[in-house]
Amino acid sequence: MKNKVILLILDGLGYSYARKLMGNLEGWVDSGEASLWKGQSVLPSVSGPCYASIHTGLTPQDHGVTSNYHQGKLEDADIFSAVKAAGGTTAAVAHSFFSDYFQASPFDHLRDMEVDDASRPIQHARFYTMTLLIQRHQPDYFLFHSSTLDSLGHHYGFDSIEIDKNCYTIDAALGDFIPRWQEQGYDVIVTADHGQSARGHHGGTEAIMRDIPIYYFANPQNPIQGPSQHQVIDQTALAPSILQRMGIAIPESMQTAPVWI
Ligand SMILES: [Zn+2]
Repeated sequence: MKNKVILLILDGLGYSYARKLMGNLEGWVDSGEASLWKGQSVLPSVSGPCYASIHTGLTPQDHGVTSNYHQGKLEDADIFSAVKAAGGTTAAVAHSFFSDYFQASPFDHLRDMEVDDASRPIQHARFYTMTLLIQRHQPDYFLFHSSTLDSLGHHYGFDSIEIDKNCYTIDAALGDFIPRWQEQGYDVIVTADHGQSARGHHGGTEAIMRDIPIYYFANPQNPIQGPSQHQVIDQTALAPSILQRMGIAIPESMQTAPVWI
């Protein structure tokens, strides 16, 4: 593996709110220690379709997850299966949709809630804590997905004191953890599946629903080469770009050109 990667998906954190509220992340962009691009989510700008696009590099029209009502493991190659095929270790702390799409369907609480099994695509999985998995298994690819902001946004609207406070809490945690993960040799990417409107909706085409932040903390030993900071990165570029950065062959099904070296 050329680089190990931690991908954080902060569900529902659109570009404009990230830039207003995530002071630690923005501070590192200002100091030059992180890169920031604007990304654009696929359509529909809905969680399940976006999770599938981030990991397969395909649009919902191609991978077939067109709503949160989808159930069933996807047939296309994804980041987990590609890393495992290359002999790497995978881990996730995430919503059960990720298990359903990339591990086994239907999601079975007894079988799938906590996983430590090298024969499965997502070899180490949990739903409550992320730090132990990284310390114990040193996975090559680790996905952390948090639903909190999306849930609060749907309840209170994204333009709310509840979102302000939760962003502050998450940003503080990231301020603590990102330097530690970098010390362990990881690239850390912080992004979102989609944004959300001030009154708590997404799914459509508005910029506030589709524009997402992509913060990239490269391993200082191996700085990243990427496009101009003004280029908008399509969400389907994430999977091939992450695999290229890891030094893993990009599956043929991932047609969007990778953006990072
Ligand atoms: Zn979502």
